Amino acid sequence: GFAGSSDASVMGTNDDATVSKASCTKMGYVKDDFVKYFIKRFTKRAPVINRGYYARWAAVRKLLHQFLTAAPSENPNVPVKKQVLSLGAGFDTTYFQLQAEGTAPAVYYEVDFLEVTSRKMAAIAHHLELCNILPKYAQVQKDKGEVRSSNYNLVAADLRNVSSLEEALKGAGFDPSVPTLILAECVLIYLEAKDSEALIRWAGDKIKTGVFVIYEQIRPDDAFGQQMIRNLEMRGCPLLGIEATPTPEAKKQRFLNAGWQRAEALDMDAIYTHHLAKADVQRIEKLEIFDEFEEWHIMQEHYCIALGVSDYHQTGMFDRFG
Ligand code: SAM
Repeated sequence: GFAGSSDASVMGTNDDATVSKASCTKMGYVKDDFVKYFIKRFTKRAPVINRGYYARWAAVRKLLHQFLTAAPSENPNVPVKKQVLSLGAGFDTTYFQLQAEGTAPAVYYEVDFLEVTSRKMAAIAHHLELCNILPKYAQVQKDKGEVRSSNYNLVAADLRNVSSLEEALKGAGFDPSVPTLILAECVLIYLEAKDSEALIRWAGDKIKTGVFVIYEQIRPDDAFGQQMIRNLEMRGCPLLGIEATPTPEAKKQRFLNAGWQRAEALDMDAIYTHHLAKADVQRIEKLEIFDEFEEWHIMQEHYCIALGVSDYHQTGMFDRFG
């Protein structure tokens, strides 16, 4: 069916995120040759926002790298086919970045609302620089708002309807027996708790070997948390999931309750301080004059990364930030 008006507002958060990523890129925090094709107009963001997008990019990139390079403990020399499934991917360009770097997984799937995948598909079809990253025989399916190829598939589905999501993925050739990293950045928090729980349980049942990476807001109760919630509510995008998972511990427990073997969660202040590559952090800290230290720490305490891991022993996959 058609997405309702608050769905349209949630889709707008993707445009916002894309502009922030473009700002972060232009200021030299991250290398992304592709994000510029997905924005209408460039806006420079405040240093604290740029640094926040860097932290998120670096943390997710570290986990992706761990997943893509992990070898099974019994047979470390046998290469394993791997895939990424990005839920609520929006205009995220990670597939294009990894492909350009030569570190992409065997297959990459992206899911979002039809309205969003249609716009992404149109941008891909319009820019040769994006088309050239795709395999030669990629198909752009205009009527469906989807892209099909041997290593990249853009799929339209509503994450609140797990059986139609499964159908759509099956139609795109998704094979749940392949080791999978599922990524949901600032997505599940916009769903009702029952819907994100169903999704996490479904993924846990289907993906026997894999890791589910979630990046999203936490700590709704203090002054900053309330402001964060109010800002999004005013834009028509309530954080419907935040009361049910208000802390890293709650996010971790949500994975364990849904049948994932192991789980871990940390707030972004801890991740930035202890788990990112020191040399790169030192590099980005010199890029802009920065004096919003108090705001920075408080903001980072309100975002977290949570991991659910299945089949830890067989794959050598991680349940730690390293
Ligand atoms: N993951 C991207 C990123 O990190 O930049 C986009 C994040 S954006 C804040 C949230 C995305 O989730 C939007 O693209 C929105 O359309 C998508 N989304 C939210 N609810 C969804 C649902 N029920 N089904 C499919 N996509 C959904």
